[in-house]
Amino acid sequence: MADFKVTELDENLDFDALAYWDVVIIGAGPAGLAASLTTAHRGLTTLVIEAKDRAGGQPQFLYPDKKIVDIPGFPEGISGEELSDRVYRQAVDALVQFRFNDELHAIEETDQTEKDDQLKRVVTKGGEYLCRKVIVACGLLHFPRKLPVIDALESRSVFYKVPKIGDYEGRSVAVVGGGDSAFDAAAMALDRRAEVDVVVRAEAPVAKADTVDRVRDSGGRVRCGVEVASARYDGGAMALTLTDGTELHADYVIVQIGFLSAKETFQRLDLRLNDDGSIAIDPYFETSRRGIFAVGDVHGDIKLVTVAWAEGIQAAIYAFKEITSPYWLNEKRLRDQKIAMIGDKISQAARDR
Ligand SMILES: Cc1cc2nc3c(=O)[nH]c(=O)nc-3n(C[C@H](O)[C@H](O)[C@H](O)COP(=O)(O)OP(=O)(O)OC[C@H]3O[C@@H](n4cnc5c(N)ncnc54)[C@H](O)[C@@H]3O)c2cc1C
Repeated sequence: MADFKVTELDENLDFDALAYWDVVIIGAGPAGLAASLTTAHRGLTTLVIEAKDRAGGQPQFLYPDKKIVDIPGFPEGISGEELSDRVYRQAVDALVQFRFNDELHAIEETDQTEKDDQLKRVVTKGGEYLCRKVIVACGLLHFPRKLPVIDALESRSVFYKVPKIGDYEGRSVAVVGGGDSAFDAAAMALDRRAEVDVVVRAEAPVAKADTVDRVRDSGGRVRCGVEVASARYDGGAMALTLTDGTELHADYVIVQIGFLSAKETFQRLDLRLNDDGSIAIDPYFETSRRGIFAVGDVHGDIKLVTVAWAEGIQAAIYAFKEITSPYWLNEKRLRDQKIAMIGDKISQAARDR
């Protein structure tokens, strides 16, 4: 009988030899990772540019320990960190290439063409990459909004994201903010038996009612209609004076008052924006610039991991179709072509009049 041996194939591919990438994806959050898996699984060369030092986006950086309970297939929930690491591993196995600690600056048109595509030059902090399609998946949230009065303390006990579970075991924690992120943080701290005060500027929190109830039922003190007026050190802890004169003592302060928008990046890309500053797209997830797609939080009303995944996958498939099929087999390109032809005729008629 023949002796069959299976030998691992060498996957040491030299991506630097490529003249251009089929797809460059900006952002390794849920939307970018799902898009990258999908293009790479279909044999497209795929590069992901990520500003941070790791993949995962918001679940990895903003709520690594939170149990996400609304992902189908995970009845016990899954932490933001584990979910991110799993999807990243899947992308690496699919031969997606990553450039971490690099940031998008601009996307320029070139005069080089490949089939129907005018190649684009993606300019980043660290380099330039030629490609056929770009998928923008950089989220809406760039950097957490700081609270100057607390930031001035320059304390390592002030967090602008939810710190690791265990950090606040049995300690006093002040959470500043009235939205879901603030109340999620308060609930997590209470789960670790912390003493929690939540400082809410508005007259009522805007977080989900069940999370607010959970925080109150677990002993959290929710102080509405007040702000932090001043902050100082008092012994080992921080003393926060609120605008109603109350003084809070806190070992840790978690500030969750929103994020600076990524609108500046979008404007630099010269993309048409919606009134709320998000990126406008068509039903194929393509932006006002041909060959540039936008997925996930950068445009949508529904900001969820599963929605970001779904959009990343759809845009990746539209990009794949455009790369692999001629325009006359591509319903959108065919429509564009018809509109262009009719537009030409109308312009010609206007000139002849
Ligand atoms: C506190 C909190 C709790 C949440 N809880 C849930 C939940 O339980 N369930 C759920 O489904 N959703 C939840 N969400 C929402 C969910 O995390 C987002 O909808 C999702 O992460 C959006 O994915 P994204 O890929 O579009 O963007 P992001 O996750 O924001 O990823 C974007 C990535 O792009 C990178 N980037 C940004 N700018 C650049 C640039 N110029 N160049 C290169 N890279 C760049 C960023 O560093 C980031 O890694 C929560 C959000 C928050 C804030």
